[in-house]
Amino acid sequence: MSRQKLGQHFLRSSPVLARIVDSLRAQPGDTILEIGPGKGALTGPLLAAGFRVEAVELDPAMVAHLEAQWPVDSAALHVHCIDVLKADLTRWGPVTVAGNLPYYITSPILRRLYSMGTFLRTAVLLMQLEVAERLVAKPGTRDYGFLSVLTQAHALPELLFRVPPGAFHVPPKVQSAVVRITPRNQAVDEAFIAFLGWCFSQKRKTLRNNLRAYFPPHLVDALPQAGLRAEQLELEELHSVWLKLKGQPDPHSSQPVTNPPDSRHTE
Ligand code: SAM
Repeated sequence: MSRQKLGQHFLRSSPVLARIVDSLRAQPGDTILEIGPGKGALTGPLLAAGFRVEAVELDPAMVAHLEAQWPVDSAALHVHCIDVLKADLTRWGPVTVAGNLPYYITSPILRRLYSMGTFLRTAVLLMQLEVAERLVAKPGTRDYGFLSVLTQAHALPELLFRVPPGAFHVPPKVQSAVVRITPRNQAVDEAFIAFLGWCFSQKRKTLRNNLRAYFPPHLVDALPQAGLRAEQLELEELHSVWLKLKGQPDPHSSQPVTNPPDSRHTE
C-alpha cells in the first residue's frame, strides 16, 4: 500500500502533541499502546512523560526509522511491525491507547478497541472531525447513527479539541479532532450490538421497517416506538426496545412486558 493510502499525515505541532499526552490521564510507568507511531512524533513525548510504549505500526520503513531513533532494547519502547486490525491488543495487559490514527480505518480500529473489555483503560485518539462528531452525537442530529450508539454503548466519548490541517505534514484535506474514550466497564451483549446494527441498517426507515425481518412482526408492530426512526431514540430507549422484543422485563419501565413464549426471537 502506498504511503498516502496508509494515512501518513505526521503531527508537527508540539502544543497538540502535549495536549494529547496530558489528556491520557495516565501515570508514569503505565503502558501506552500507540497506534500508528509513524516517525515517532507522539512516541517521543510519551516516552518523555515516563510511559512504557507498545507501538503498533504497519509500515516497515517507519518501524526502521523508529528503531534507529531509540535503542531497540529499550525497556520503555517496543515497536511491533503489525497491522493493528490483526494484532492481539490484549497481549500487554490493561493499556491506555493513544494515536494519531490512520483515518481510513478509524471505525474498524474503534470496534477492536471496544472489544478489548477491561484491557482498555482509556483511549485518546486523533481522527477526522466528522467521525469525532459522530461518536459524540445525540439523537435527532444529523451525525447520530450506528457509530454513535456503538460507541456510547461501550464508552463515554468526549470531543476534547479540534486540530487544523496545518498541524500536520502533509496536511490532510479534512479537519481533525482529538477524542477521549472512557470505557463504561460493563459487559456489552454482542446480540444487542447486532440489534443496533439492524435498527440503523436503513437510517431513514422506521424501526417497524428495519426490524420486521428479525422479530415476529406483531411484536414489532406493538412497540410504541414502531413508527419512529432509530436516529430519534436515545441509547437507553433502544435498549428498552431490544429487551421488549426479546421478551425480557425492562428495568427502565414500571410495567413489565410479557410476550407469548412461542413468539420469542431466538438468537
Ligand atoms: N503518529 C504519527 C504522527 O502523528 O506523526 C503518524 C500518524 S499517521 C496519521 C498514521 C500511521 O499509522 C502511519 O504511520 C501509518 O503507516 C500507520 N498505519 C496505517 N495503517 C496501519 C495499520 N493497519 N496498522 C498499524 N499502523 C498503521
